[in-house]
Amino acid sequence: MSDEEVFDITIVGAGPTGLFAAFYAGLRDMKTKVIEALPEPGGQLAVLYPEKMIYDVPGHPKVQAKDLVALLLEQCALFQPEFVYEQRIDDLRRVEVEGEAVWLMENGVGRHYSRTVVISGGIGAFVPNKLEATAKYENRGIHYFIKDKRPFRGKRILIVGGGDTAVDWCLNLRDWASEITLIHRRDGFRAHEASLAELHASPIPVLTFWELDSVSGNGDVERATIRDNRSGETRELEVDAILVNIGFKASLGPIKEWGIELADKRHIRVNGLMETSLPGVFAAGDIAAVDGSEPLNLIVTGFGQAAIAANAARQHIDPKARLFPGHSSELRL
Ligand code: FAD
Repeated sequence: MSDEEVFDITIVGAGPTGLFAAFYAGLRDMKTKVIEALPEPGGQLAVLYPEKMIYDVPGHPKVQAKDLVALLLEQCALFQPEFVYEQRIDDLRRVEVEGEAVWLMENGVGRHYSRTVVISGGIGAFVPNKLEATAKYENRGIHYFIKDKRPFRGKRILIVGGGDTAVDWCLNLRDWASEITLIHRRDGFRAHEASLAELHASPIPVLTFWELDSVSGNGDVERATIRDNRSGETRELEVDAILVNIGFKASLGPIKEWGIELADKRHIRVNGLMETSLPGVFAAGDIAAVDGSEPLNLIVTGFGQAAIAANAARQHIDPKARLFPGHSSELRL
């Protein structure tokens, strides 16, 4: 996707910090884009603990992580920011567009121009862990995410993994797919207890100590060979799709090469206005270290920093604008 339009603010990372920054950017009338490496928003909440309860979000005595993401999305949707998914920003540099110095973000797929940037990349861009056995069948029946379950109607699916994502998809697709088999390389599951109990009560075969050995098919995935890692016994399953849910790796990767002053290997140094060493580039949330001090990696910290960064970005674009946005309670939204 290529977009030559210059946005007022571009938020890199759609975790809780990025989503709340998008809300504040909208409140300040900025044309806003949010770019996320994954196909879905929510950052660590969506990837690492969607089913867990969070008890320290102000105003929510308890809220499930995935519900908080949905609420944040609803809140920022009020201003209709543009969302770009599945693009990890690899490069950030200064360019001139019609005489104006702006930031260009690139990744080989898209080009994004912006007057200001908020980096809310958390612990880095998440990429799904992959299996050697499936390498030849990427995009040919191997899936790491399901954005739309319609193509899986009536299909035979092998799900690999023992965490919340694998177990949730077994439950979610059970009345949709014609057959589901779950394999997991050990007998300990990281998934939520209640979901696991539901899975065991369902007719879905759950094969523990079984791993994916190889995949075959004429073009697309047609067969999976699975192996018992204790006995070495193998079995062949006829399958139409394989869903690999074996976790994610997070890597700060390219952000370190953008010429921004870092506080340490994993954090960008910012001042009290969340400004980085680059003009018009702000950082907030888990990735930011204010004056280089140890970050308090909490959702609430990211929310406060997101509000500061978006308002400071507004003032960067228009130095006459106030930093203070006014009280939202005085608005009719
Ligand atoms: P993240 O949530 O890490 O989101 C960053 C996003 O940026 C990711 O989606 C990533 O893919 C994307 N990204 C990174 N680099 C790029 C790039 N180059 N291009 C495009 N996208 C990119 N905090 C609490 O306050 N209360 C709790 O109870 C709590 N429980 C937790 C439980 C667990 C198991 C874990 C792991 C953390 C918990 N936390 C909790 C911490 C909290 O989740 C983090 O502080 C919070 O997620 C930070 O939000 P963020 O938006 O700054 O970063």
